[in-house]
Amino acid sequence: MTKIIGIDIGGTKIAIGLISIEGELLATKTIPTDQSIKPTKMIGQIYQHTLQLLDRAHTALSEILGIGIGAPGPINTKKGVITYPPNLPQWRNVPIVAEMKKHFNLPIFFENDASAAALAEKWLGAGQSESDFIYLTISTGIGAGIYTNNALLTGAKGNAGDFGHTVINPAFGQCVCGQRGCLEHIASGTAIAREGSKIVGKPLATKEVFSLYQSNHNEIISYLDSVFQTLGAACVTLINTFEPNKIIIGGGVSKVGDSLFDPIRDYVQQYTLNPDNRETAIVPAALEQNAGVIGAAALVLHTKQKEYSV
Ligand code: ADP
Ligand code: ZN
Repeated sequence: MTKIIGIDIGGTKIAIGLISIEGELLATKTIPTDQSIKPTKMIGQIYQHTLQLLDRAHTALSEILGIGIGAPGPINTKKGVITYPPNLPQWRNVPIVAEMKKHFNLPIFFENDASAAALAEKWLGAGQSESDFIYLTISTGIGAGIYTNNALLTGAKGNAGDFGHTVINPAFGQCVCGQRGCLEHIASGTAIAREGSKIVGKPLATKEVFSLYQSNHNEIISYLDSVFQTLGAACVTLINTFEPNKIIIGGGVSKVGDSLFDPIRDYVQQYTLNPDNRETAIVPAALEQNAGVIGAAALVLHTKQKEYSV
């Protein structure tokens, strides 16, 4: 048993990967998430595509150590259920582990996608030598995977790290979660595109807002500077709360590089409460492509198997 299956369930696509226990990605397959069909039917498709992937890689099920699944929260890892993910509106209380067990007689591991991505960074990426670090994803939304004292901090049901819904400033209006002024509503890729478009008066993608920043558009500069301050404050909160040695930032928005990282580092150096923690490393994620499936596979190697009451 030298291989692992990692499955990353997302709102638009589901990625399946076959990974060696050394962390080599042997084969992958991506299928669109068809939200017009019942989740149980979609899980049936995952099963079929996994078999095809194994077949293509000349791998027998007897070689598989286990299956790791990463999914968007909210989830319930005690019960092995995807409960209420906003990006999967048809997936309500889906017993993903029980359904997969109908198809596979293998150990199944299940966590939220940000926790899985944190484990991917621990296994093969920027967190390899860290006992305490946080993976922060700034993408369509904002989420965190918390790795502390050499283990994931998952919370009672696997939803610790839903950091994007921390209220920063209610004046910013209503977030998808119903609260006003969440971090995600202010500083996610979605928020930056929305506010940048308002400033310029035409629809812009997040990347285009950053291009205007580079080309010295005054209003965009002052707007994005305030977003960077907010992200800096978010990192200070994480450092003050969990005292990681490193914050690893991933997700689409992190691709902009230094213009995002430098102001966050400056803010952290100024405002982290403990002066000894002001040098906390703020670094880009090392694994972008395939981080989801690698993280899901990492669950098999790096977490204790849960007892599912299914
Ligand atoms: P998902 O949220 O589905 O996991 P991503 O991590 O790719 O997807 O994040 C998507 C967000 O990142 C979108 O808001 C997108 O506009 C933004 N984004 C993607 N690439 C870039 C880039 N190079 N520069 C700035 N923003 C980007
Ligand atoms: Zn919110």
